[in-house]
Amino acid sequence: MEERHLQLVLAAAGYYAGGIDGQVGPESMDAIRAIEANNTEGYAFDPTTTTEKRRYVAALQAGLTELEYDPGVIDGWYGVFTEEALNAFLYEMGHDKPEVIDRTPLQNAPASSDIPHQNDVAAVYGRPGPDIESKLVTIELPFSLKIDWNLRKSTRRIRVHRLAAKQLETALIAVRDHYGAQVMADLGIDRYAGAYNHRRMRGGSKWSMHAYGCAIDFYAQPNGLRTRCPQALFCGDEYQPFLDIMEANEWLPALRLWGADAMHFQRAHL
Ligand SMILES: [Zn+2]
Repeated sequence: MEERHLQLVLAAAGYYAGGIDGQVGPESMDAIRAIEANNTEGYAFDPTTTTEKRRYVAALQAGLTELEYDPGVIDGWYGVFTEEALNAFLYEMGHDKPEVIDRTPLQNAPASSDIPHQNDVAAVYGRPGPDIESKLVTIELPFSLKIDWNLRKSTRRIRVHRLAAKQLETALIAVRDHYGAQVMADLGIDRYAGAYNHRRMRGGSKWSMHAYGCAIDFYAQPNGLRTRCPQALFCGDEYQPFLDIMEANEWLPALRLWGADAMHFQRAHL
């Protein structure tokens, strides 16, 4: 994260009127303290007890949250949700309109009948918010995945919709059986980048599949929202068994649905 982006967000959220110079001086610090004071409920940790860098990232997240760009949890870690929320903010600032992300279906996109279409997910999974939250379950894997935006941390637990949980658990265990722990780590497939998240779709106003609990992301950085083959990492041959196994278990790779956002898998057709 660049400090000038923090200043831009704090200014847009009404906390900062100083120069956009990338120098976190007294005025910027006042703004950071003000946004912290206004968001004590939203912060997942105490920002006064951490490093400067994490405190800045959290202030950026709090500002993006207030501006409704949905960066995810205000945890001070600069992960993919934070980056994409910032991208969306910067795009809209530069173009005076929200960015539209192209999700035109590929001609040969997978088409199994057991999975809902995106237009029907509300009928099948429920309404985003408390309704969906009441239908989430936590998978406990027999191995752990690294947290993509904070690699010192790992988890065995993933929260997803109960109608999609068994399939995901089966898929991930099969992926592990196929590659083994070492290769999974070498390829970055063990980098879990988030599942359930109550937020809107990037570059769109509809709810994200993540808000229905039927989406999961892996290894975000080299598999970006706009990155297509052959640039996206998951386009590589060595990743095809991963995509095959996910798809065979009803978790469809975005790379095969609309040809970008390779980090993303969802239990829904377009
Ligand atoms: Zn995703």
